[in-house]
Amino acid sequence: MIVPANHPRHNSLQQRQLLEEGMRAGIVTPTGMIAFGRGEAFDYLLGEKTSAQAKKAARAAAAQLLLAKKPVISVNGNAAVLAVREIIALAKTVKAKIGANVFYAPAKKRRELIVKHFKKQGASILGKTTDARIAGLSSERANVCRQGIFSADVVLVMLEDGDRTEALKKHETVVIAIDLNPLSRTAQKANITVVDNISRAVPLIKKEAEKLRAKKSWQLKKILRGFSNSKNLLESEKLLRRHLK
Ligand code: ATP
Ligand code: MG
Repeated sequence: MIVPANHPRHNSLQQRQLLEEGMRAGIVTPTGMIAFGRGEAFDYLLGEKTSAQAKKAARAAAAQLLLAKKPVISVNGNAAVLAVREIIALAKTVKAKIGANVFYAPAKKRRELIVKHFKKQGASILGKTTDARIAGLSSERANVCRQGIFSADVVLVMLEDGDRTEALKKHETVVIAIDLNPLSRTAQKANITVVDNISRAVPLIKKEAEKLRAKKSWQLKKILRGFSNSKNLLESEKLLRRHLK
C-alpha cells in the first residue's frame, strides 16, 4: 500500500507499514508492535515534532558520542526497520559500531535478520553471534558481543527495556536513550534521554554531531556539564501535561 503523501497522518501510517513489513520479514515481533503503539501515543501528545528539550538532549548525546572511545549503537527489530539508513549515517559520523540486540525470541534468528537488513544497506554490524553476557539480566538482551556492547564505554539505545538500561549502567556503560516516554524506566535511568521519535531523533543527533565534530574535547565536556537529564525530563513531562490541558 502506498501511503498518500498529503495524508494528515502520513508519517505515522508509513511507520506502521514499515513495522508490518518488518513483522512479515521476521525482524519485528508482535510485542514490538505493541511497544511502538505506546510510543505513538506519546508522540501524539508531544505534537509529533521535536521539542526544544529533545534538541538540547540531542546536542548532549552528540557530544557524548564524540567523546566516547568505543561508542556502540544498539539496535533491535523496531529500530532496524524504522531507521536503518539514519542509524548507519549516525554511526559513520560519530565512528560508532552498530550491534544487534533483541529482547524477544527467536533471538538468534532475529539477530541474523537484523544483521542482513543492515548488510543490504551496505553496513556491517555486530550481533549475529554473541560471546559475552551483561550481568544481572535473564532475558536474551543479556547476550552481546565482547568487542561491541560489552566493551563499549557509551551505548545509544532505542526502544529499550528498563532492565537492560539499569544493567548497562551497573556495567559502567554510559547510556544514551531515545525514548518517547519521559516516564519510562529507560528514560529515567539513562544518562542522556532524547524524548523524541527515533525517526527524528537519530538524524537530529547526527546533525548535532556534524556541528560539534570540530570542537575540542574540553568544549564537548562543557556541553555535557551544562546538561541535566533530570531537569530535561521534567521539562518534557511538563510539555506533555501542557498539551493535555
Ligand atoms: P521501561 O521498561 O523502560 O519502563 P516500558 O516497559 O514502558 O519501558 P518498553 O516496551 O520496555 O516500555 O520500551 C519501549 C519504549 O520505547 C517505550 O517507552 C515507548 O514509549 C518507546 N517507543 C516506542 N516507539 C518509539 C519510537 N518510534 N521512537 C522512540 N521511542 C519509542
Ligand atoms: Mg519495559
